[in-house]
Amino acid sequence: MAHPKTERTLVIVKPDGIQRALIGEIFKRYERTGLKLVALKMLIPTEAMVEEHYLLDPNWKKNVGEKAIASYLKKGETPPSTDPIEVADSVVVSLKKYMTSGPVIAMVWEGGHAVELVRKITGGTEPRSAGVGTIRGDFVLDSYQMADTDTRAIRNLIHASGSVPEAEMEIPHWFKPEEIVKYRMPHEATLYDVDMGSRAV
Ligand code: AMP
Repeated sequence: MAHPKTERTLVIVKPDGIQRALIGEIFKRYERTGLKLVALKMLIPTEAMVEEHYLLDPNWKKNVGEKAIASYLKKGETPPSTDPIEVADSVVVSLKKYMTSGPVIAMVWEGGHAVELVRKITGGTEPRSAGVGTIRGDFVLDSYQMADTDTRAIRNLIHASGSVPEAEMEIPHWFKPEEIVKYRMPHEATLYDVDMGSRAV
């Protein structure tokens, strides 16, 4: 098994993150944990790129639909549909509009438990219920209810891979192998080396 310190995850700063001038704030949150940025690009994605990205995982539609319905029911509210696939189909249409509305920044972060750590720092899908201290909880306020009322995607600043297999499918969708840079930073010795890379004198 590969060492957990080699784990990689895909993060996309969505168009609202760029328009809200939160690029530096978002980078800072991931960077200060010790994770390492190994790939980076700014682009305006096409609708095809967005649709392919979200449909890489065959279970994505079911999961997204079920998550939205559960969130409504938890708040004692009525979901727009009780069929997860129907909910997800409309989310895909909205997502294509949202994600192609302006530039995004796609990046790959590498380091111990990168997928899980980035999801923790990012917070839950719905900013309304995302935890305090997370990026979505601290910097934006959108909800399933507002998004569905206006038939649009939830504006939650960031996409982050949901699992290691998902990251492994998503990274090659956005980056060629030669666009991912291999290098070492001094603080990796303190984070990972068995002897911390230093001795008292
Ligand atoms: P995820 O793969 O978890 O990032 O989900 C895709 C994105 O779709 C989310 O980050 C939201 O921007 C959006 N989204 C998910 N569910 C809904 C929903 N029920 N209504 C509107 N937008 C949604």
